[in-house]
Amino acid sequence: MYSNVTNDTVIKGTAVVPGVRYAKAVWISPRPELPQAGEVIDEQAREAELERFTLAADTVASRLLNRSEKATGDAAAVLKATAGMVNDRGWRKTVKKGINGGHPAEYAVVAATTKFVSMFEAAGGIMAERTTDLRDIRDRVIAQLRGEAEPGLPTVSDRVVLFADDLSPADTAALDTTYFVGLVTELGGPTSHTAIIARQLNVPCIVAVGEDVRQIADGEPVLIDGSLGTVTVGADPETAVAAEQESKIQAERIAQWRGPAQTKDGHRVQLLANVQDGNAARLAAQNSQAEGVGLFRTELCFLTATQEPSVEEQAEVYKKVLEQFPDSKVVVRSLDAGSDKPVAFATMADEINPALGVRGLRVARANESLMTRQLDAIAKAANDLGRDENSPTWVMAPMVATAREAKWFADLCKERGLIAGAMIEVPAAALMADKIMPHLDFVSIGTNDLTQYTMAADRMSPQLAYLTDPWQPAVLRLIEHTCKEGQRLGTAVGVCGEAAADPLLACVLTGLGVNSLSAASTAIASVGAQLAAVDLDTCKKAAAAALNAEGATQARSLVREILISV
Ligand code: PEP
Ligand code: MG
Repeated sequence: MYSNVTNDTVIKGTAVVPGVRYAKAVWISPRPELPQAGEVIDEQAREAELERFTLAADTVASRLLNRSEKATGDAAAVLKATAGMVNDRGWRKTVKKGINGGHPAEYAVVAATTKFVSMFEAAGGIMAERTTDLRDIRDRVIAQLRGEAEPGLPTVSDRVVLFADDLSPADTAALDTTYFVGLVTELGGPTSHTAIIARQLNVPCIVAVGEDVRQIADGEPVLIDGSLGTVTVGADPETAVAAEQESKIQAERIAQWRGPAQTKDGHRVQLLANVQDGNAARLAAQNSQAEGVGLFRTELCFLTATQEPSVEEQAEVYKKVLEQFPDSKVVVRSLDAGSDKPVAFATMADEINPALGVRGLRVARANESLMTRQLDAIAKAANDLGRDENSPTWVMAPMVATAREAKWFADLCKERGLIAGAMIEVPAAALMADKIMPHLDFVSIGTNDLTQYTMAADRMSPQLAYLTDPWQPAVLRLIEHTCKEGQRLGTAVGVCGEAAADPLLACVLTGLGVNSLSAASTAIASVGAQLAAVDLDTCKKAAAAALNAEGATQARSLVREILISV
């Protein structure tokens, strides 16, 4: 099934709540079969059909409200919101229209929900993630109409990892975490309700694993790692149990860790947060010990914009992030539009191979004013907030491949008094660091794309997860080269890809000479706690072992041995 080099199979998803758990997989109870169009209700029976629907919908809504009264915090709010969706006048009106038009209640529910799902998907962003909630109320009402058992959580008497295509808010809110020790979903996103509640319950959680997850059978033992976003099938039981134990000890250490980050012997490493909007920046500032922002992905602010926002409008968006860190460094990345992040006003249409196409800085090379307007907006936001050298605003360009591109970008930044940097995420940029760095004040290594392009493996492909692994020694060798040039030329080198969120890999990066690590704010304490447990020499030893490993799996296990034994 997979061409992994080891006996175990690793499937990758999006890490939401950290923690390692080893338990049997259990799948959520099946959803009802959806009815097809075709049957027509006689005109005189439609009134009764309407009543049947209203009764079923009312029953589902009041059941959810009852549960909400018994729950607390986010869980209570989510259950109440779901009940609100069942009572939504627009949705009920659409169902009733369908019944009046002759559809049976079950089919009218399906048709109305499909219409609302399309509307939510077209709106994109957070609205699109709410489509799970809509499908959930559809299934509950259909089951109620048919007199079937409510779809949802299975009854279990032992520890299990719960698997689902997507979890409904109502399912997640009712979870007993003594039994359900981990969550894995095929779909969903980091801001879906599954993710929100998993965080509240502090249960290790991985979302968006993709359809390969369906090959995991009920009862199969699985090892999940909520900080790496991995689901391993066929793991050696002894190693897996030890990994879970280690994770629990680590969780204790993490809870007690206080920044700023340094190794045991006092070598400082700046830990920064990756954010995509003001809200994420606020969470990072309030709930993590981030010393600033190391990657503000500006393109994610404009995924639903049909037109380029004006300089003033953009400045307002950027201020929302900058103002959360009034006394610290914020690294703003210029638009990384294209490929997996299409932005309507800045993405080339219909490219055959968009990951290798006009994305990132390349978009702006063909449309310089797009870049200058964005830089003007960043400069305006920083000036309006009175930011100075104590709260520096750094700007970096994605997908830089040549020294000429770096110089072009740096000149535009300098004209506006902005500190200029580049992401090192194209192998050519790492190899040409000696020519690129002299134009810049700093570089930040994007390990996600650097891995994708080094290994020639699509970062979105679950089948290629064994290749798109930043532990690949080939990737680490490019990072080593970049760090050496950075040290020689006095250019700061950071890492802002997912690699920075992996505590063991963070030690390797520190050993290679990286000065700052930027990751999702939820990962910061685990990285800080791991760094605090080792000295710089050990990090260097770990780095040397990883560089000389024959592959990613060996690199990981050699480093684990070195770091965990200290
Ligand atoms: C990266 O490529 O590592 C990176 C940080 O950028 P993004 O994930 O947004 O492409
Ligand atoms: Mg990238």
